Amino acid sequence: MSAQQTIHVGGEWRSAASGATREIIDPADATVFALVAEGGTEDTDAAVAAARRAFDEGEWPRTPVAERAALLRRVADLLQRNREALGALESRDAGKTLEEGRVDVDCVADAFRYFADLVMNESGGRVVDAGSDEIHSVVVHEPVGVCALITPWNYPLLQASWKIAPALAAGNTFVVKPSEITPLATVELIHLLEEAGLPDGVANIVTGAGDPVGARLAEHPDVDLVSFTGGLSSGTKVMRAAADSVKKVALELGGKNPNVVFADACESDEDFDTAVDQALNAAFIHSGQVCSAGSRLIVEESMRERFVGELARRAEKIRLGRGTDDGVECGPLVSPQQLAKTEEYVASALAEGAVLRAGGRRPEGEGYEGYFYRPTVLDQCHREMRVVREEVFGPVLTVETFRTEDEAVALANDTEYGLAGAVWTADPGRARRVAGRLRHGTVWINDFHPYLPQAEWGGFGKSGIGRELGPAGLAEYREAKHIYQNLAPRPVRWFAG
Ligand code: NAD
Repeated sequence: MSAQQTIHVGGEWRSAASGATREIIDPADATVFALVAEGGTEDTDAAVAAARRAFDEGEWPRTPVAERAALLRRVADLLQRNREALGALESRDAGKTLEEGRVDVDCVADAFRYFADLVMNESGGRVVDAGSDEIHSVVVHEPVGVCALITPWNYPLLQASWKIAPALAAGNTFVVKPSEITPLATVELIHLLEEAGLPDGVANIVTGAGDPVGARLAEHPDVDLVSFTGGLSSGTKVMRAAADSVKKVALELGGKNPNVVFADACESDEDFDTAVDQALNAAFIHSGQVCSAGSRLIVEESMRERFVGELARRAEKIRLGRGTDDGVECGPLVSPQQLAKTEEYVASALAEGAVLRAGGRRPEGEGYEGYFYRPTVLDQCHREMRVVREEVFGPVLTVETFRTEDEAVALANDTEYGLAGAVWTADPGRARRVAGRLRHGTVWINDFHPYLPQAEWGGFGKSGIGRELGPAGLAEYREAKHIYQNLAPRPVRWFAG
């Protein structure tokens, strides 16, 4: 295994300036399967300088919109062409199932196409009525400049594309820093951007640790915007580091997402089956390592036993294994740290009085040498428990109950986060009332997890600042400029002179 050149600066692939490398671990069997360059401050500064030069002197910010959009579409086609390989790489690196890896690639291609369409359908600027025929006033939107894009390990390619596609569509240059745990697919994406014909210096990548690489990007005076997706504690560090240079900051942080189920959503056997199935999917897809995971089930007291009993029964049957193996429904956790954190949360919940209904253990036997943990259902939970308040980011579902609609809303909003939540009910009036009162950036009614590239994604409260996707996801990467042109200038005579 040779150290890969995974740092891309000004159109050139390099090893780290220090020569350091990092081993990439397959979470399904805890073995090393790749080596990447372990970048440092010197590599980061070089990448920012290249992005700066490409922005200040290069052609990309001034490239006609139609050409930028055409390039984004080429990238989407290349992603689709490489779907199997990229899906498999993402599966191995992040521990997700192969099918999830493939779906991620489709979603990434969709994001590139969406932002291509969005910029193509815009008018050039907004003419403002200045109240005089002698004034021409227009508001235009320009690229913000050099963007630092910092991404997490759970959806490496997807999170990178939600930043890279709009950043490029708007005419920016960037340096991306993928998670040090799962950098491989993002490195491949930069290769595809090159292949699509992006000019040198526009797309740069530095593989390496949060500190120093991410920290240096956040504080760097030549970076105009930092867009960060990751945990709350790293996000607050990024915001602090960005303060001195007053750069734009966008944060997509964690969630503690409620899934509120009213008894009226389960009146027929079919509806009951759907609500249970979706609660399972909400909590356990990708072993719960999803920012919008429905990790808090808030169910009407009258149907707790029936609902939780069936949910626990199905959770026990979820098939764990290597993501590329046939029939596997859930892969491992991404790292030993994530496994230890999950175990620690379950232990603390049990010590605080939660009742274990499913899981609560590592699977045993051959094929589970990696970081596997059984999908876990914890009943009799309440808001004072850490496991209910804090993001576990593992396959752990807590159960709380309510008796009234007001109680359900109060519980669902009782979190410092506010990323996503769902309400299940057969009553359309109740659905609209509850959806209106939930303080979360995405609210699903009788569904969980879908998102649309054309609809904004982001959080209330400590789930972040700003939005990705949708028109607002493009606006993050732009500055508004008002151009006021006086067609008949005259002295103003404010000063007598
Ligand atoms: P993390 O905060 O540990 O790391 C995220 C990224 O930040 C990594 O690239 C890391 O190297 C970097 N980083 C770490 N410290 C840094 C620092 N001081 N300065 C700059 N960069 C730094 O998060 P993670 O464990 O990789 O990902 C899981 C978290 O991401 C969860 O909290 C999850 O909810 C969140 N997430 C949110 C969304 C969303 O859309 N809101 C999506 C996916 C993941």
